Amino acid sequence: KPVIVLFRHDLRLADNRALYAASQTGKPVIPVFVRDEETAVSTRPLGGARQWWLHHSLTSLTRSLEAIGAKLILRQGRTQAIVDELISQTKADMVLWNRRYDPAGIETDTALKARLLERGLRAESFDGHLLHEPYSLKTGAGGYYRVFTPFWRAFLGGPEPRDPVPAPAKLKPWIGEIASADLRDWRLLPEKPDWAKAFHHDWTPGEEGAKQKLADFLEDRAASYKNDRDLPGREGTSRLSPHLAHGEITPFQIWHASKSPAIKDQNAGLDTFRKEVGWREFSYHLLFNNPKLHEDNFNESFDSFEWISSARNFNAWKTGRTGYPIVDAGMRQLWQTGWMHNRVRMIVASFLIKHLLIDWREGEKWFWDTLVDADPASNAASWQWVAGSGADASPYFRIFNPILQGEKFDPKGNYVRQFVPELKDLPDKYLHRPWTAPAVVLNSANIELDKDYPGPIVEHGAARKRALEAYSRTR
Ligand code: FAD
Repeated sequence: KPVIVLFRHDLRLADNRALYAASQTGKPVIPVFVRDEETAVSTRPLGGARQWWLHHSLTSLTRSLEAIGAKLILRQGRTQAIVDELISQTKADMVLWNRRYDPAGIETDTALKARLLERGLRAESFDGHLLHEPYSLKTGAGGYYRVFTPFWRAFLGGPEPRDPVPAPAKLKPWIGEIASADLRDWRLLPEKPDWAKAFHHDWTPGEEGAKQKLADFLEDRAASYKNDRDLPGREGTSRLSPHLAHGEITPFQIWHASKSPAIKDQNAGLDTFRKEVGWREFSYHLLFNNPKLHEDNFNESFDSFEWISSARNFNAWKTGRTGYPIVDAGMRQLWQTGWMHNRVRMIVASFLIKHLLIDWREGEKWFWDTLVDADPASNAASWQWVAGSGADASPYFRIFNPILQGEKFDPKGNYVRQFVPELKDLPDKYLHRPWTAPAVVLNSANIELDKDYPGPIVEHGAARKRALEAYSRTR
């Protein structure tokens, strides 16, 4: 009797405990990718950028499974119904999967396990997506952590994360016909216009691409991560986030690779790096305990916040035409590459929420649709953090000045010049505040303000004052 292995966002062979356990049984293995996001109750459909990634990642997984003797079956629909049908067709008596931690995923998989066990079949789930089980870490009072530092202290005080398990060398194939969807019929790739056409310059979806990103990071960037991670004009971070979101690599693999004695860590850059991975854990800890994290204010006093709805301003933000170069560079990087540097994510989110007073949920949704790493926990938790409505939130009076942030973190303007090329000939001195440049400077840089590049859609000082007033009414 065969064993069924369910794939969802764990599109890898290495450190895939469900697949490894299946290979150890000596039974034929049927790997099935289940696309249940459209059908499971309250699941949020994947955004466009993640659909693009999913298409390529499934293509890659199909090939890797073929190389070890198995055929990936693609199915769309309710997990329960798909599993029932496959069991009756193949007489499988065992179903294995790696755990999900989004609320709908937990609900579906809990019901699935109960039903399989009731029928006397074997059902088992494994870790892999997170280093810690979100229900396992408790505060002294028995609750969950709302503040990162004590959470991380508790995590580090616990056992060392387990070692990764190897990829199975060979799988025993299932001999028999099982229907599979054709990936092309899922139409995951954008059609016209193909807004993802440049994504391939930055990304190689799939397990190999993930391994390469980790190796490049550890070799070239780890030693200077602590200093460079805040500079968007440098390739200073790992760019592992979309690979993690699709489970092409696990935090266990990252954790242990970063501790390998062969890696040089001159200035504790890797402690900082692992701590960032810890923020991902913390975000899931919050999501697990607040299933509506992307919808409901964590801090209820924000329910009465007076957001302003302005299609014009929201559109200027989305298209990178706010007149603040660092904000515009970030929003254009997002659109062109499906990713944005963390420092700039904070700046653009703060700008939307505080300068434009647009509801953080609008920004969260836009990121959900456009980020290749869109993550139910990190995205919602980070937006709430910037808004001040979240757990361990940034203080309400911290209103990033987009001019000073640009000058501090992109001092030579590499980042702005890459993504806002119409400003490339402007001297550094004016790059983050083009409207202050004298006419002669603008002329010689070939810029006509409001035509080639917009003037600021809100004035910083006035917007800051308005935000502080709005926040003080909420508190
Ligand atoms: P690195 O600096 O190399 O960090 C390594 C890994 O640690 C990342 O891949 C990521 O998994 C994790 N990590 C790093 N910083 C954070 C953080 N602040 N919070 C949670 N995890 C972190 N990250 C997502 O993965 N998906 C999202 O949808 C997402 N939305 C965000 C929205 C906003 C408004 C903000 C401010 C941040 C958001 N982040 C999100 C967190 C962070 O910006 C990205 O994880 C990071 O930029 C990914 O780049 P990297 O892999 O090169 O990071």
